[in-house]
Order: sequence, then structure tokens, then C-alpha cells
Amino acid sequence: MYAPDFAYYRADSVAEIGRLLRAHPGAKLLAGGHSLIPLLKLRLAAPSALIDIGRVAELKGIGVADGRVRIGALTTHAEIAASADVAQHAPALAAAAGVIGDPAVRNRGTVGGNVAHADPASDLPTVLVALGASFAVATDDGERTIAAGDFFQGMMATALGEHDIVTAIDVPARPGGQGQAYEKFSHPASRYAVIGVAAAVERQGDAVGSVAVALGGLVPAAVRAGSVEQALSGQAPTAEAVAAAAAEVSNDLGDDLIGDIYASAEYRRAMAPVCVKRALTAALHPAPASPPPSSGGSGSGSGSSWWPWS
Ligand SMILES: Cc1cc2nc3c(=O)[nH]c(=O)nc-3n(C[C@H](O)[C@H](O)[C@H](O)COP(=O)(O)OP(=O)(O)OC[C@H]3O[C@@H](n4cnc5c(N)ncnc54)[C@H](O)[C@@H]3O)c2cc1C
Repeated sequence: MYAPDFAYYRADSVAEIGRLLRAHPGAKLLAGGHSLIPLLKLRLAAPSALIDIGRVAELKGIGVADGRVRIGALTTHAEIAASADVAQHAPALAAAAGVIGDPAVRNRGTVGGNVAHADPASDLPTVLVALGASFAVATDDGERTIAAGDFFQGMMATALGEHDIVTAIDVPARPGGQGQAYEKFSHPASRYAVIGVAAAVERQGDAVGSVAVALGGLVPAAVRAGSVEQALSGQAPTAEAVAAAAAEVSNDLGDDLIGDIYASAEYRRAMAPVCVKRALTAALHPAPASPPPSSGGSGSGSGSSWWPWS
């Protein structure tokens, strides 16, 4: 099916995106187009105008400073997966970006588009919620920061206002000794996550210290699994303790479980503890780090000074 007619504008800066958004009510930003274009072609969206942000250089790249990794909104999934900085400081994010869709999707799709689209079957929201990331947003009034836990508000619903632009994602660099993992149970055809679980676990002596677990694909928006976290923290890191904590996930799912053509709600409920257990086990026993395939031209570099830190 063809997309409905729309006007097309191309922006060269964040300021120009803001001007175009105010001048064209109902316009949509076009980043990688891998979620928006299918919606247009299915006629599930019919914006009057598209504002192409794909050439806005200030929205691209990866940098590390002040204990966090800052990733420009236009950075592609492939660039994140290939970044040595992301692999070192937020390995669960690198792992999740590397299992998104297929190479074409990873080379076009962007982190900003992925979070703004807020599909519960997406991979990055789950990891960003678990890792306590925050989003830098340019607004009519300047800038604000939104915590990932407050950003995702429901099925394809976010805290973004009509004129808001995600400019960057800030991910805290993991503390020494923290293990991270992303476990994806993907649909074999679409590759989207039927269930995605991100885990970040610290050890404290012989016991488990802080635990963060987030769930994707199960309920309308990525959420923390508080019952699982509480059950594992302070326990000895045994297989039995992990299995018992994973079983607690049923208390974190509520009544809003997703059931769709890919998997029924009952199937998701039965599989959730399995995926949580795998994610926790992998986070507690991380494989030795292997170098990413290449820098992917992301402009990454530890402590690089190019990024306009605010
Ligand atoms: C075949 C296929 C398989 C896929 N598999 C997966 C998968 O396994 N896992 C997964 O997570 N995703 C998957 N995706 C989705 C893919 O990751 C998309 O690229 C991503 O969700 C959207 O990013 P985009 O840059 O393409 O955004 P676009 O499609 O350009 O935009 C998506 C939405 O975000 C808004 N937007 C874009 N950038 C910004 C910004 N900076 N600020 C505010 N709003 C913005 C747009 O206006 C639009 O509403 C798949 C897509 C396809 C086509």
C-alpha cells in the first residue's frame, strides 16, 4: 500500500527541527524510517508533513564522560552494537542493539526513533529502563531530562510533548563488578522480542548486591521487575536462589499482559520466569568480554571532547 500524501522538509539542526515542528502542526519526525514508514504505508498514521532529521550531525555519535555514556539520538543500532565504549560501560545495551531485526534494520534504525516509537516489542527500552538511563529532550522552552522509567507510559505512548525532540540518551557507566545481560526470546520471522529481559547485577562479597531487572514484550511498556529484584538481592548467587527470584516475576506482570498473534498472554506468562532466569544467570556469570567487530564509524571515543555537554 502507498503512504498518504505528505509535505516533506529536511532539517539541518536541532533549532531548525524545532522551528519546523512549530510551523507544521501534526508533522512527524523521520529518523531511520523503519517504524514510521511502515505505519504510513499501512495507513495507521497520516501526518500532514514529515521532517527528515537524518542529516542533523549534532544528533549523531557516542561519547563517554562524567561516568556516563552519551549516545546521540540519530546513532544507529549497528553503531551502538559496534561501539567499544558501549561494550565496556553498558554491555547489555550493546548486546540488545546487536540482536535488533536484521543488518538492514540495524544500519538504518536509530536509538532516538526506537525509544520515541515505544513499541513494547522493541529491545532498547527494556535495557534503558534496567540501566537507569535518561533522555535529553529539546523542548519549546529549552531542554529537559526524562528518566527512562518515566518516559515509557504505555503501548507506543511516551512522555514526549508535541514539539519535543529526543537529542541524546545518557546511560550510567556500570560500576566495577556489575554484570549485565539481555535475554531476548524473539519471534523467528519479525525478530521482534516476544519477551525481552535486561538484568544488571552486582555482587557484594559472597552475596548478590543490587539487582535491576526490566521486562519488555510482556506488558504495554517496559517496566522494572521489583519483586524479582527484591527476592534476589542479599541472597547467595546460587541456581536455586536465581530460580526462586525469577519465579517472582508473576507478581510484576499485573493483569495487563500482552496477547497477540505472536504469543498468547498465557504463553508469555509461562515463559517470563524462564527468560528472567536466563538473564539473571548470564548477568551473574558474564562471559569474558570480546572486542566489538569494529567502531562502525560511530565517532565513539572515551573522554572525547567533541560532544556538547550541558
Ligand atoms: C523488519 C523490521 C524488524 C525490526 N525488528 C526490531 C527488533 O527486533 N527490535 C527492535 O527494537 N526494533 C525492531 N525494529 C524497529 C527498528 O528498530 C526501528 O528502526 C526503530 O524502532 C525506529 O527507529 P527509526 O530511526 O527507524 O525511527 P523512525 O521510524 O524514523 O521514527 C519512529 C518514530 O519516532 C519518532 N522519532 C524519531 N526520532 C525522533 C527523535 N529524535 N525525537 C523524537 N521523536 C523521534 C518519529 O517521529 C516516529 O514517530 C524493526 C523494524 C523493521 C522494519
